[in-house]
Amino acid sequence: MSDNFKGMGAIPGIAIGRIKLVGQDLTKYLAAYKPGDKAEELEKLNKAIEMSAEILEKNVEAMRAKGQDDQADIMEAHSMLVQDPMLTDGMVEKTEELGNAAEAVIASSQESAAIFAEMDDDYLRERAADVLDVGKRIAKVILGIKEPELGDEKLILCGYSVEPSAVAAVPDEKIAGVIMGEGSTTCHAVIIAKSRAIPTVVGLDKTADELPDGSLAILNGKSGEIIVNPEPEVLADYKQKLKKIQEDIARYLALKDAPAETKDGVQIQLACNISSPADAESAEKYGNKGIGLFRSEFLFMQSNDIPSEETQYESYAKAVKACKGEMCVIRTLDIGGDKPLPYLNIPKEDNPFLGYRAIRISLQHKEIFMPQLKAILRAGVFGPTGIMAPMVISVDEVLQLRGVIREAMQELEDEGKEYSKHVQVGIMVETPAAAVMTPMLGKYVDFFSIGTNDLVQYTLSVDRINPNVGYLYNHFHPAVLQLIQRTIEAAEKHNIWSGMCGEMASDPYAAVILMAMGIKELSMSAPSIPRVKEMIRSVTYQQAKEILNAVMDLENGQEVAEYLHKALGEK
Ligand code: PEP
Ligand code: MG
Repeated sequence: MSDNFKGMGAIPGIAIGRIKLVGQDLTKYLAAYKPGDKAEELEKLNKAIEMSAEILEKNVEAMRAKGQDDQADIMEAHSMLVQDPMLTDGMVEKTEELGNAAEAVIASSQESAAIFAEMDDDYLRERAADVLDVGKRIAKVILGIKEPELGDEKLILCGYSVEPSAVAAVPDEKIAGVIMGEGSTTCHAVIIAKSRAIPTVVGLDKTADELPDGSLAILNGKSGEIIVNPEPEVLADYKQKLKKIQEDIARYLALKDAPAETKDGVQIQLACNISSPADAESAEKYGNKGIGLFRSEFLFMQSNDIPSEETQYESYAKAVKACKGEMCVIRTLDIGGDKPLPYLNIPKEDNPFLGYRAIRISLQHKEIFMPQLKAILRAGVFGPTGIMAPMVISVDEVLQLRGVIREAMQELEDEGKEYSKHVQVGIMVETPAAAVMTPMLGKYVDFFSIGTNDLVQYTLSVDRINPNVGYLYNHFHPAVLQLIQRTIEAAEKHNIWSGMCGEMASDPYAAVILMAMGIKELSMSAPSIPRVKEMIRSVTYQQAKEILNAVMDLENGQEVAEYLHKALGEK
């Protein structure tokens, strides 16, 4: 008899493997541990700290050598934590108090983690798991626990709290999936899994610690379903699905260097959206041409204060360099809506998506805006770069933006810092006001990038994060299509380029009509690039034009989607 469970899909894909509990319950080892005298315990503690630091440093080197920079960054952070007196001094004190190094390490790391867990900031709260992970790592050395050998079968790592190092430690050929009891898309274990495209389900609560160790399981990272001990016919069905996914992935990756062009040679640029420079490095294998959206607010969200000009410069410069001569569009701070920034102390709003956010904040807070603009201008010396303002609704905002950029350039001149005078200035077209005004706004900018995630919600008055109205959220709604077409046409008239960085850009069916409208660039999460490219390569420009003409006469979004699927086939 199979057992079915349901969590939240965090990273899509299908995994078939043996459950391996990695919640690391050390209770029985701690009970069996016989401590020596205080001096011996202190010595064991110091040795365990040293050994853990050495192992972590070796792991970092090995991961860097394999190009797994995301994982290496996280392990590097752990290596710093292991050596951080804030953490280790507490462990020493606790060992002196308890006379048991193993228990002291666990107790002290739990105390430190509890402080992180209470913090308001999401990012810092998530760091509690890193502190516990580091504590367990040291305790395991003291307790003499060796990591279990990895067998031949693929594993689904599973636990209420899966430590980032547990995911990082299992090589690609051995890991099938991850199941976590807690977790969110910003916790480090999920970030590591995402950079390796490992199907992951989160939010299974305590059940995750109780799944039968060693049992065969199927995990669906999209729907969040988990089937333990599946019936043979269910297993066969999923094996078939997995085989199809693997074939698709192989086919997609083979497209990496193929141009994104129609059968009759019309090209379009497929760029990627990133939240950190590390994303840019891992995007390469999907064949992105540049970055169409660097969501810079994540830099601000991962820090407990406004990142300095220098810190921002380092990140932006890394991203620009990763583009290898292609365009890197860096969006200025887009805080507000569903992206709060606790240390800005913005008063609670009844309508945050219509409130104090994005360019509205930047233009009023020059002390935040100026260092960001200066950092982008400086990064511009490493390759083509764009500054993009979010949530614009008027010409006046663009003129103010241009004014602050001029001031930032002047400051850089005065400080004798090198910067680029050729950084392009563009705006997100993500409000109906901006879309309607594109014929005017086009006079003052170098590009438009259409942000459909917000443009759809504002045009249709449908909250993008409210599942109860999700059925109304449709990027093919004729009102949205008309605003998009107007924007692209306005760009052409002004001889500037137009692109799209909202999620619509990753829909292969949408890509066909956007290309026919004349869009020059589509920017999306990197793994979506090959699917879009495959679709573009399967049509002629003429065909795309005919399809566009037909859909622009349709009266609702559902009909548009159906027409496209019929005309282009199920992909
Ligand atoms: C958008 O609104 O389409 C967009 C790309 O920005 P974000 O999703 O960050 O709001
Ligand atoms: Mg937006």
